[in-house]
Amino acid sequence: MQQRTKGRLRIALPNKGRLADDVRTLFADAGLELRTVGDRALVAPLGADFEAIFVRAQDIPEFVADGAADAGVTGWDLVCESERSLESLLDLEFGRCRLVVAAREESGITSLDDIVSDGNGGPRVATAFPRSTKRYFADARRTITIVPVSGAAEIAPHLGIADIVTDLVSTGSTLRVNQLREVATILESTARLITASERLPGRKRAMDELVAALESVLRARGMRYIMANIPRAALDQVRDVLPGLNGPTVIDVMNGGHLVAVHAVVRQDAIYRTIADLKTLGGEGILVTRIERLMP
Ligand code: AMP
Repeated sequence: MQQRTKGRLRIALPNKGRLADDVRTLFADAGLELRTVGDRALVAPLGADFEAIFVRAQDIPEFVADGAADAGVTGWDLVCESERSLESLLDLEFGRCRLVVAAREESGITSLDDIVSDGNGGPRVATAFPRSTKRYFADARRTITIVPVSGAAEIAPHLGIADIVTDLVSTGSTLRVNQLREVATILESTARLITASERLPGRKRAMDELVAALESVLRARGMRYIMANIPRAALDQVRDVLPGLNGPTVIDVMNGGHLVAVHAVVRQDAIYRTIADLKTLGGEGILVTRIERLMP
């Protein structure tokens, strides 16, 4: 691994795969632009205070736990599977999936209760998550035999090498296509910003600033900024329509006559209703914009 650039904290980011693009977008939106030299760069400056190293998402828990990076972004499923002592500093809310137990539809297995040991090592479970799977079945007091695979576990029951599988599910279509039924959830996962707790003290300030920056972007994504001109006489009712963070900001409009401008931050999923309600109250000149960052 290359020498660290002095004074910069090193963040391990996925070099490819499902999380890579979303991670880059999130950091760029937080003002931490990656300055890569070509697509194959292994290290790149990340804003002024950090540098990124690009590695496989699976390796990130190890790199962070071993101190090769000060923090990292990877799936919680991979952090759990690593069984290393790592702390989740922030849930990044993308890469959402579940690690589930699944069985062939015609197997008759519909719940964990149907998974019984035959006294001969128990059912064979194909998985790319052997540690999480072993832990789950041990906690459930079921004897099983792990069949480790590096991916595509869903094919194993059809090949006769396993009775059941544990695999990641996002939409569920891969299980359906392979005629597998979900039987139980082992864990729920999203992308996380992680660090090794014991190394946090000296880096706490930089990490707190990074968390605050990323969090402000995530918070803003679900919100919109709405502006409208409203008859002054309707202001009391506007308060019910536009709760905002602290209630709407009310601003005089030059030559506005009976109109005043109201501005507020509104949840994205409430915008449709809010616009309709403001129109009913005589609102005009309604403008909705995205918010880049929101720090309450
Ligand atoms: P789906 O058909 O949408 O349920 O996706 C399932 C397939 O995508 C499986 O092969 C999983 O291994 C893989 N997958 C789904 N979500 C993730 C994720 N967040 N990270 C890595 N692999 C995933």
